[in-house]
Amino acid sequence: MLRTSLVAALLAVISFTTLAAGIERDAMDTSTAPGDDFWTYANGAWVKAHPIPADRSSYGVDAVLTEKTKKRTVDLIQAAAQNAEPGSDAQKVGDYYASFMDEAGIKAKGFAPLKPMFAKIAAIGDRIALARYLGQGLRADIDILNATDFYTDNLFGLWVSPSFEDPTRYSPFLFQGGLGMPDREYYLSDTDVMKKARLAYLGYITTMLRLAGIAEAEAKATRILALETKIAQAHASRSDSGDIQKGNNLWAHADFAAKAPGLDWDAYFGAAGLDKQRTFIVWQPGAIEGCSALVANESIDDWKNYLTFRVIDHYSNFLPKAFSDQSFAFYQTTLQGTPKQRARWKRAVDATNDALGQAVGKLYVTKYFPASAKVQLGAMVANIKAAFQKRIDELAWMSPETKTQAKRKLTTLTVGIGYPDKWRDYTAFKVVRGDAIGNAERSEIFEYNYRRSLLGKLVDRKEWVMTPQTVDSVNLPILNALNFPAGILQPPFYDPDAPAAANYGGIGAAIGHEISHSFDNTGAQFDARGHLRNWWTDADLKQFKAAGEALAKQFDGYKPFPDLSVNGPQTLGENIADLAGLAASYDAYHASLHGKQATAVDGLTGDQQFFLAYAQSWCVYQRPEALRQFLIKDGHAPAQYRAFTVRNLDPWYAAFRIKATDKLYLAPNERVRVW
Ligand SMILES: [Zn+2]
Repeated sequence: MLRTSLVAALLAVISFTTLAAGIERDAMDTSTAPGDDFWTYANGAWVKAHPIPADRSSYGVDAVLTEKTKKRTVDLIQAAAQNAEPGSDAQKVGDYYASFMDEAGIKAKGFAPLKPMFAKIAAIGDRIALARYLGQGLRADIDILNATDFYTDNLFGLWVSPSFEDPTRYSPFLFQGGLGMPDREYYLSDTDVMKKARLAYLGYITTMLRLAGIAEAEAKATRILALETKIAQAHASRSDSGDIQKGNNLWAHADFAAKAPGLDWDAYFGAAGLDKQRTFIVWQPGAIEGCSALVANESIDDWKNYLTFRVIDHYSNFLPKAFSDQSFAFYQTTLQGTPKQRARWKRAVDATNDALGQAVGKLYVTKYFPASAKVQLGAMVANIKAAFQKRIDELAWMSPETKTQAKRKLTTLTVGIGYPDKWRDYTAFKVVRGDAIGNAERSEIFEYNYRRSLLGKLVDRKEWVMTPQTVDSVNLPILNALNFPAGILQPPFYDPDAPAAANYGGIGAAIGHEISHSFDNTGAQFDARGHLRNWWTDADLKQFKAAGEALAKQFDGYKPFPDLSVNGPQTLGENIADLAGLAASYDAYHASLHGKQATAVDGLTGDQQFFLAYAQSWCVYQRPEALRQFLIKDGHAPAQYRAFTVRNLDPWYAAFRIKATDKLYLAPNERVRVW
């Protein structure tokens, strides 16, 4: 994903003002020399005027835009609810939101909406019934490649995706799950932090059981944690789960009983509506095997207690405040350090987006995304693709075979702009006002049935995985496609009225960034039609890695703290994408001028606007504690250093008259060029 994730928080909407010119002149700090610190030169005044709000760990253009989009979204949702036809999308959107917002109604019901679910669990009398219950609970809640979402609280999770073997058809992928805490490390690691997390989790389970009127809460909580710990022991590690080659295991239906005995797989798949499915891709075979054995060997009572807690935990957000406060205190405060819960309306918007994302998105783009923008951006994408193609042709180190494959991938790349061509049909999804939990449950079942109905069918290569109102963008490796939602196609990234220079420096560079991911270490594993097949020759891959080394070194040289620098190798893939994207977008911008001189705006030349727009699109900054954590674990460099990518492009030197004595100056032979 392109943008770093930001925790949404409570704050007033502050707009990045007067963007018709493309560049926010008031944001700049012209007392800083562009050659010494280009990020501060472009953003310094804005950063000074906008300290990080108290309930956030970072701030910047993303946060501002996300807040603005959320405010617009909630207005649309509320307007939709008025005079909506029963059964229409507007009714569903409005009632879903209103049901979540109805705190008094939710409080009055208490945990009563969970009672039928408890009764179902209580009725489990033998292992076949247990298998059936688990099968009925399977949901399409995983997306490992596009959203890098590995997590499900069900024992197993399903991802319906174009198959690796035959990417023209949808296949089922089966994943490990069943843990309340985010990863096996939380259960197994010996560090003090993880030990404390486990203790807090035990307390959390106990409290939740008590709130739901379950007897002997404390003793049951201990057993539940013990069972989850056994599940964690069976789980694959996070890094193994992220390895596509390790995940690609084709099992026939009959293989499950032989390779993973214990769970009654016929009963399981029958209840999941997957009894006719002949093959599956089993992502973590060891975990499926281990968990299947646990279903056979652990006591049925332990399973029933565990499943009861899973239900309470799963719906905590839709239960009275006593429940959701506990959930927030454990998952957000204890595990993530967030002190303050977001306003209820923001959580309600998120929940509505989860359940009815495209219905909300349709309302959003109708009001906020002009058709002309789709045309203008389409032309930009074509120019950037052409620039990329030219760069591939000119690469000295790449063999003709690899070039042919790369170009095939480029020409077949689908770039989705703003919103999908085809909208989701929500007819089969029933939303009842005043039934928050029922709505949430029906939403998951609706989604599951929809994904399941795709199995074996021809793949829709124009499918979207992001909602139009998302402020982000994504590369979909198997579909060889990009999604650029309307949410990110706004100032300061894109403005239909801004000069081309600013749009190419902003969203153009972002488009180039995502395109280049089609050719990096992940992209290299999928060919133009989405087959899992390495299309690089070994010699070329070696050359590509060598070209990256200089860039890794460059980023190693950035030191936000005296004792901690940016990790060049860890952030290399993203830094290559930034450099490739910026360079291709620069070429495309100049091609778009058709030989004409760019018009100066506010005294800024075309090239100056281009590079400033790029740096202003990276106006994001973090608290020192958050920055430290980010440097250690994130695959992206901090925004400031991403803005410094400009120092590898010759035209930047001319545009800002950079001198050899400037801090960011690189001699021409030190400027890195990968693509
Ligand atoms: Zn990226």
